[in-house]
Amino acid sequence: MEQKSDTSLADILRAAVFAGRVHATHRRKGMASEPYVNHVLEVAEILATHAAPSQAIIAGLLHDVVEDSDQDPEPTTLEHIAAQFGAAVAGIVAEVSDDKSLPKEVRKALQVRQAPKASEVAKLVKLADKISNLRAITLSPPANWDHARRLEYVGWAGRVAAGLRGVNPALDALFDATYRDAVARLAVET
Ligand code: ZN
Repeated sequence: MEQKSDTSLADILRAAVFAGRVHATHRRKGMASEPYVNHVLEVAEILATHAAPSQAIIAGLLHDVVEDSDQDPEPTTLEHIAAQFGAAVAGIVAEVSDDKSLPKEVRKALQVRQAPKASEVAKLVKLADKISNLRAITLSPPANWDHARRLEYVGWAGRVAAGLRGVNPALDALFDATYRDAVARLAVET
């Protein structure tokens, strides 16, 4: 029997393996110190659940490999991604990556300002990323993040997300529910 391979599924899994290797030594900042790859798998799962195109899912898996490998002996570059996964995926990853040469506060302000100008597929990836990060802040916040800092983060994520809306209503609704949950949990904490 002839087997027809599913190109996009194979590419998605190849991106998952690639991300797993790049993030092999990276951990999330939360108290649970989860392997970093759990975050990008969650982003990809959110995108797949909301019928995002496979390029968005692949970019979701790869969205942090450039930004987070800059301290590695052999940083992963957009050129590596273009060679492995094509220029379109590399373009999406470029759109969702911060310029790490800029101070953190500038990068955060730029995310708010640039969100509305992103391509539709980059908006999906960025919104799924914010959903995953809000969940993490709610469920496993970094030990050194006090209430005020978490509240500030949630508010900032909401301001970025405001510029990402309108591509996928179900994803917008999931962000809203996640945001409300984060705010409600912070409110009862004090
Ligand atoms: Zn991320």
